[in-house]
Amino acid sequence: MDWANLAFGYRKTDYNVRCYYRNGAWGEIETCSEETIPLHMAATCLHYGQEAFEGLKAYRCPDGKVRVFRSDENAARLQSTCRGIMMPELPTEMFNEMVDRVVRLNERWIPPYESGATLYIRPLLIGTGAQVGVHPAEEYLFLIFVTPVGPYFKGGFAGNPYVITRAYDRAAPLGTGIYKVGGNYAASLRANHEAHAKGYASEFYLDSKEKKYIDECGAANFFGIKNDTYITPKSTSILPSITNKSLMQVARDLGMKVEVRPIPEEELETFEEAGACGTAAVISPISCLDDPDTGKRYDFGSQPGPWSTRLFHALRGIQYGELEDRHGWTRVVIG
Ligand SMILES: *Cc1c(COP(=O)(O)O)cnc(C)c1O
Repeated sequence: MDWANLAFGYRKTDYNVRCYYRNGAWGEIETCSEETIPLHMAATCLHYGQEAFEGLKAYRCPDGKVRVFRSDENAARLQSTCRGIMMPELPTEMFNEMVDRVVRLNERWIPPYESGATLYIRPLLIGTGAQVGVHPAEEYLFLIFVTPVGPYFKGGFAGNPYVITRAYDRAAPLGTGIYKVGGNYAASLRANHEAHAKGYASEFYLDSKEKKYIDECGAANFFGIKNDTYITPKSTSILPSITNKSLMQVARDLGMKVEVRPIPEEELETFEEAGACGTAAVISPISCLDDPDTGKRYDFGSQPGPWSTRLFHALRGIQYGELEDRHGWTRVVIG
């Protein structure tokens, strides 16, 4: 395997794990080597978007152990999503047991530490029961598959250009933006395609009601830094990123102040550093942000700033077991 040159994409591994919800209860955890799922053509996931997913990683660490990061938080977020779109909640213990099992079963697909690649873990919950009227399903399938993914920063930790879109909203103020559901991504595909076509790393959203405040940075959360303060938007349509939550704690641990509040677009001008954050990259520094409708460009420099760099290494260090895990965020799955 050429681990270091893996892309962020799907690659077949040996096993996935599955669990069915029927007659009001979750069944036994099953191990499966099949990549496909038999599905009723009237399943609610196909017609009414009863679909939720999660994303986390397993890290092969320099001490030889394999760790996962804050999977309890992914379980809790999935439970919140389930409440949001009327699906049965999966207990945290079961979620963790399935994560551990699927990682162990696919041990040979966990990239070596030196490659910078990781094993991406994708939990998926879908309504499988047939409905023609708009109602929640009575049957569900929860599964987890894994796939090795390449290092996010092939040429080292670096900044990327982003572009503000006013032509599309990814989520309504009281819609499903706070849930990790496929529909939000469907709503973002066109904006993302257009941003890429213009040479940007991703599109950037303002709040969909007033187009005044910063919302999400594509499929990642946004943060800005000024005066030793980590500032991230408060909004009812942002997906609560576990990376962002962790960075806020790490920022406090490093002596920064943290603010969670609405951020008007004009404030971008005052930030010394800005970044997108999420599981894929931890931090993807923003080099510049263009607002084509006003002709304005917010510049943060092509090199990652000092605080972004410190935060990135501090969080990565915990994920790879190299720095003290004082908050108990990692779990050793193999080792
Ligand atoms: C998954 C996701 C994120 C990042 O969440 P993490 O838990 O940090 O990976 C941010 N925004 C959106 C829209 C997402 O779907």
